[in-house]
Amino acid sequence: MRLQDAAPADGTILDRAAAVLAVHTDDNGMCAGCLGAWARLAPSPCEQRRWAASVVERYANRPNQD
Ligand SMILES: [Zn+2]
Repeated sequence: MRLQDAAPADGTILDRAAAVLAVHTDDNGMCAGCLGAWARLAPSPCEQRRWAASVVERYANRPNQD
C-alpha cells in the first residue's frame, strides 16, 4: 500500500495523514499497519507514522489546509 492509497485522492494531506495514523499503530513495539500491509516488522513508530505525525503537527492548525 502506497501512502497515497490510504485515503481518496481528493482528500487533503491531513486526511491522508489521519488514515496513516489510524492504520500504523503500536503493537507491542512493532507497527501493526506495516505488518498487515506488507508483512513487514517495523519498530513503532514506523516511518509512515512519523511522517503522518509530522504532517499533522505542521498542518493541523493552519487556516488553509492543503
Ligand atoms: Zn507502519
